[in-house]
Amino acid sequence: MTLSTSTPSNETTSAILQTAREQVLERGEGLTTDQVLEVLRLPEDSISDALALAHEVRMKWCGPEVEVEGIVSIKTGGCPEDCHFCSQSGLFTSPVRSVWLNIEELVTAARQTAATGASEFCIVAAVRGPDDKLMEQMRDGVAAIKEAVDINVAASLGMLTQEQVDDLVDMGVHRYNHNLETAESYFPNVVTTHTWDERWKTLEMVRDSGMEVCCGGIIGMGESVEQRAEFAGQLGALSPHEVPLNFFNPRPGTPFEDVPVLTSSEALLAIAAFRLAMPRTVLRFAGGREVTLGDLGTRDGLLGGINAVIVGNYLTTLGRPADDDLELLAELKMPIKAVADAV
Ligand code: SF4
Repeated sequence: MTLSTSTPSNETTSAILQTAREQVLERGEGLTTDQVLEVLRLPEDSISDALALAHEVRMKWCGPEVEVEGIVSIKTGGCPEDCHFCSQSGLFTSPVRSVWLNIEELVTAARQTAATGASEFCIVAAVRGPDDKLMEQMRDGVAAIKEAVDINVAASLGMLTQEQVDDLVDMGVHRYNHNLETAESYFPNVVTTHTWDERWKTLEMVRDSGMEVCCGGIIGMGESVEQRAEFAGQLGALSPHEVPLNFFNPRPGTPFEDVPVLTSSEALLAIAAFRLAMPRTVLRFAGGREVTLGDLGTRDGLLGGINAVIVGNYLTTLGRPADDDLELLAELKMPIKAVADAV
């Protein structure tokens, strides 16, 4: 673990968690960047205390419900951007082909997602930003889904213009996902074809439009623990409705294929720290948890601040079967949030 160099004493550990208890649990004020860093540096034997506190925070400020979401890729692969973790970039040798879905396939996927009890269905595309063809397909696809399935439709189509933001609102897309991916200071190590600031501008337009903002990233792409704390602080400042938390899972053929995965201790501390930074946010387990945490870690995460999951498969990697997650939620007595409550 990279956290041991400045591991705090037992007394300091208790003081860090006590301050977090008073500030976050009792007053609902998220931790600052410096305070997040303290949590990320907690020693291994206090991880369960940090997770227990994060769980109390989630139960107090978000409640017991878990938001379930399914995702479908309307356009997979062949992206012109060079995000170094992503097997959908057309610039790398990763084995993901460019594929488009048609409207009928979209509706079928939405129906299957709704059948799991999910309230959210997110349509994603591997693009820098949508072109006219994609926006046209979204208009037809969202209308067809709304006609046939009782589910909220979200979208993730890259960077947007103001006109495209307005169009998505007009279509009835209620939430837009655009991840900052990592701390601003580490972003140039991850992406060179666009800037963190360009992503931020899209997020501001989305927030101002009234659509819910969904913005998270990937933990463990080689950023320092300070940069991990910086990222939590930057997300806290954006105050998104939802934060999808991915744990880095190296993809063959990408520039980051040899970056080692996080230890489960680092991943669990990140879950606790991000929850303590954002007490009211929907904190979603997204990709990579199977690799970093395994089955046990999924349970620890759900009892450590996570209150939303993606069911089924992710975009380019296999997730856990939906039934496994739904069974786990039932066992933990965490009700699935209904469509009407999730709007
Ligand atoms: S993360 Fe998105 S923008 Fe970046 S290469 Fe992958 S699909 Fe393209």
